Amino acid sequence: MTRPNQTCCGVIEEARIEAREKHERRANKPQPWIVLKFTVGLTTALMAYSAYVYIGLFCLDMIRKNGSALGSQEMGVVFLAVFCVLLFMMSWSYTMVVITPPGYAKDFVAINERPGYQPPVTRPSEASNDIRGPSYELTSPTVNLSRRPSNDLTPGNKHRNPSTASDTLAGSIPPKDRNSQASAASNSPGEAGVTATLSVPAADPLALNSWNHRAESIAHTESTSMDLPPPMLSRRPPTTPILLPEYRYCSREKMIKPHRAHHCRACGACVLKYDHHCPWIGQCVGAFNHKFFVNFVQWASVFCLWTFSTLLGLNIRAQSRSSAPDIDPQHIVILALAALFGLFTLLMTLSQTYSLMLNQTTVESLGFRAMKDREKATLMHMHSWWEIGAKRRTRKRWDNEWGKIGTEGNLWWLGSARANWEAVMGRNVWCWFLPIGRRQGDGLTYPTNPRFDAEGRWRRRREWPSDLR
Ligand SMILES: [Zn+2]
Ligand SMILES: [Zn+2]
Repeated sequence: MTRPNQTCCGVIEEARIEAREKHERRANKPQPWIVLKFTVGLTTALMAYSAYVYIGLFCLDMIRKNGSALGSQEMGVVFLAVFCVLLFMMSWSYTMVVITPPGYAKDFVAINERPGYQPPVTRPSEASNDIRGPSYELTSPTVNLSRRPSNDLTPGNKHRNPSTASDTLAGSIPPKDRNSQASAASNSPGEAGVTATLSVPAADPLALNSWNHRAESIAHTESTSMDLPPPMLSRRPPTTPILLPEYRYCSREKMIKPHRAHHCRACGACVLKYDHHCPWIGQCVGAFNHKFFVNFVQWASVFCLWTFSTLLGLNIRAQSRSSAPDIDPQHIVILALAALFGLFTLLMTLSQTYSLMLNQTTVESLGFRAMKDREKATLMHMHSWWEIGAKRRTRKRWDNEWGKIGTEGNLWWLGSARANWEAVMGRNVWCWFLPIGRRQGDGLTYPTNPRFDAEGRWRRRREWPSDLR
């Protein structure tokens, strides 16, 4: 490693780089196998214990007509049968999701140099640590200035990019100040206006050079983009050409990730159509096991709801009788577990169904949420808090101009909730609920929304194919 310089600042800087590299080396290591799989054992043990209490204590008491029975013999038989079916369905889908790998990019993609890569001058990017990949905010405004991504815009080099750094800075300035800066510094419309006002890291020749270049581009675009609305008064979708290989490079595994793949730090690998890392199944939810994961949360929520409601119902009924027996403490344990996991899996089922119908992975939906939050902040700035109607009208105007966030503005949206759902869950209705069926697609390629350009940028409605406008 080269020493930046021999001054005090140089030594501090060097120590910082070393610490960061050490941290990255540690962060690059996947979790040990035993840590990853421990929760699988725990989950299995919890399922077995719930079966022991429900069948061995609760149902058999009724079937054998014991003194502590909470219901009739017939009731015991029915409850036992339903419970066994639910337990079987849940265990089957759990087994499927645990034994089916999500699909790892390294099995499909060769190791590659970073396309258009220039080694960073001082240190590797912090931003590449982010499991969510290139973020909306960090890359948005600059790319519009030159249609071709310049080298300092590659995600791995993000924080060498002055406009990126300054964009982050913009995020920390309250909207009011930001706007006054924007209007004070330039009257340039379009997204360039915001970028142009932001500070350049001083004493960095590379940054200054690139800044000058950008300033020229701004001057150039000013003349051509006068018809665009001012920056704070319109939607600002991310302009990162995310379909280009430059934006899909995994610096840890040294390969160009397939579309929608992301690096999971816990697994230490890029996962195809990465949704999230689920500790309860000991691996990631990705392209090839997403359907089984949805099946599992569906059955787990039904299992927990059934266990909770029957156990609680009969215990309450028994307590209302005059000769009420004491509540079995093991029933209370199972009630608490069923309530906790039932709530968790039910929320998971709902959120998974919602994002499947929008064709958004958990990672992608974070981007849309961030965009909506930013837009809300902009609307707060444009209107007073009580002008709810005006805010709604502004948002509608933006939707007319751009299309809706999350659907028309989603690169992977297939046009209807049904099509999106079937892209993961399959066409066969049985497959929607049973952990069967072959994987959908190859996990590597996905049809893109024609409302986006060939490089993956969200376009204005007037630029869409005419039949979609
Ligand atoms: Zn990776
Ligand atoms: Zn993972």
